[in-house]
Amino acid sequence: MERQLAEKIMSNLRERQFEAYYAEDGEQAMEIIFSLVPQGSRIACGGSETLREIGFFEKTADSYTVIQPAAGSGPDEVKKAMRERFSADAFFLSANAITYDGRIFQEDGASTRVAPMIYGPDSVIIVAGENKFVENEQKARARVKMVACENCRRRGFATPCAEDGYCHDCRVPGRSCCTSVTLNFSRIPGRIKVIVVGRELGI
Ligand code: SF4
Repeated sequence: MERQLAEKIMSNLRERQFEAYYAEDGEQAMEIIFSLVPQGSRIACGGSETLREIGFFEKTADSYTVIQPAAGSGPDEVKKAMRERFSADAFFLSANAITYDGRIFQEDGASTRVAPMIYGPDSVIIVAGENKFVENEQKARARVKMVACENCRRRGFATPCAEDGYCHDCRVPGRSCCTSVTLNFSRIPGRIKVIVVGRELGI
């Protein structure tokens, strides 16, 4: 992505009361994260291939308290941890698509990723590689479906898209994309921060 385009997108994000930052790569993105979130903060994360690729989980392990269920937790412990996400100091995730005019598109299954994004944590930090940015809403919705199909394929879900790569608006129990969310504006200025990374990251 050309820097000029990145600047235009960041300007549109700021008009919607999102904060916007530019990082050349994952390393710079991590520097921005550490500048935004004080050491010792309680944080939580939505599932994110982007965060994994930039080394987020290893690099933050000693700096923050991460709200997450312990390995092998039962349903009650998992539910408790998911609810604790709402009181995190900072919540991290990526985006499924961001339009050039600064709107952020997400889809989710259990909604444990999108719900704390919408409400709860004082700070929400979205890390998005250049592959997440698309011209308009139509392309954003197409990208979101492409990501949902790819997720189903990678995770071996029993959905029709896992078989053929196309969305069928399925009504099967394993459907992975149950909730669609578009962030158009942040009522609390700067609560939602977007780090635009000039590299391809995630799916
Ligand atoms: S609605 Fe069903 S077929 Fe379409 S992307 Fe979601 S899980 Fe796949």
